[in-house]
Amino acid sequence: SYRKGGYHAVRVGDQFAGGRYIAQRKLGWGHFSTVWLAYDTNTSAYVALKIQKSAALFVQAARHEIEILSSIADGTTPSNSKCVAQLIDHFKHTGPNGQHLCMVLEFLGDSLLRLTKHFHYEGLPLNRVRDICKCILIGLDYLHREHCIIHTDLKPENILLVSTIDPAKDPVRSGHTPVLERPEGNINSGVTSLIEKRLKRRARRAVAKISGRSDSIIGTGEAPKSDRNIDAIDVRCKIVDFGNACWADKKIAVEIQTRQYRAPEVILQAGYSFSVDMWSFACIAFELATGDMLFTPKVGEGFSEDEDHLALMMELLGKMPRKIATTGAKSKDFFDRHGDLKRIRRLKFWPLNKLLVDRYKFSGNDAHEFSEFLLPLLDFAPEKRPTAQQCLQHPWLNCKDSTPS
Ligand code: ATP
Ligand code: MG
Ligand code: MG
Repeated sequence: SYRKGGYHAVRVGDQFAGGRYIAQRKLGWGHFSTVWLAYDTNTSAYVALKIQKSAALFVQAARHEIEILSSIADGTTPSNSKCVAQLIDHFKHTGPNGQHLCMVLEFLGDSLLRLTKHFHYEGLPLNRVRDICKCILIGLDYLHREHCIIHTDLKPENILLVSTIDPAKDPVRSGHTPVLERPEGNINSGVTSLIEKRLKRRARRAVAKISGRSDSIIGTGEAPKSDRNIDAIDVRCKIVDFGNACWADKKIAVEIQTRQYRAPEVILQAGYSFSVDMWSFACIAFELATGDMLFTPKVGEGFSEDEDHLALMMELLGKMPRKIATTGAKSKDFFDRHGDLKRIRRLKFWPLNKLLVDRYKFSGNDAHEFSEFLLPLLDFAPEKRPTAQQCLQHPWLNCKDSTPS
């Protein structure tokens, strides 16, 4: 992908925006961009520099993302309390592969996916889950109510922790001071290329792991780094990646959201609104508390991934009301006129409350309280799901667990 129209190759010490930003190390990448830790010489602070691929399609996508991020940054709420990543600057950068739009964002830490991995996919202590849920909800309330923006791709990879660690610290490079110029022989020196090879191997492993777990519409990758950051978290987090976000009255795509976090009305193509983000939020909250994804649909003999997904939802939440099941543009692909699935005839009902106790060994009380919090968010009727603002008032968020987190 490092060719004309693709990624811009960056070396440590490279300068951007007339020398204002200096590249330090790679933070991550996605299908649209690479993201670098950069030092801002104007403010003497570290920032995240997102460098988009240069082909027309990617330029257009970056313009859209910048438009959304700029409007978010213009809000009235004090910028630190927003729980949404802030755009600091944007500019064009010309390189051998073309002209790249670049976004300068506030620097953030590990994603929630890495955090669940840190807890060996066994779930986080409930007090931490509560803190993270509050942050996500504050971010969503801000996006939905103040800006009428639907994120449409909420998932653990797209929520980053606010790290209290010095961003210049790195497992392979121990320096704490920013790199201000390109180190001598950066690419060709033997030592560097050894480190680079090792990093690349680890990156490939990390990517294999991440891309192996979901059929995300758009894949993503984090550069390899140690888990040290995670020890320093105060569990504040921010929502990132607005590449797929839209204004509620200017929708772009019909098929939205990453598979496991996708709401039923999206599968049925019955129209959607802010409440699709609330569905994804509930899936994330479950995953944080248990370490497992709530729904992992698979294609089977004689049925599609979509139909399996609807079956899994109904096994957990009960039968979908006939009126909802039959009114989407794609309803006829899955449901007969009675509102029963066409190809998956027998459902094994396993209610959330029972699942939490039986499989995840929650106490009866914890399971009951957590289910009361999640179930309204997983209502098949999108308009019945609580808004982020309403959800923030829920008693579960404010009850205190006696076990330390
Ligand atoms: P996608 O294919 O998911 O749409 P993308 O090209 O739009 O990817 P992002 O998802 O915005 O790129 O960023 C890619 C990765 O870079 C993230 O998963 C994360 O690891 C890292 N990253 C992004 N923004 C920041 C930030 N503000 N601070 C630190 N790391 C970041
Ligand atoms: Mg992403
Ligand atoms: Mg994106």
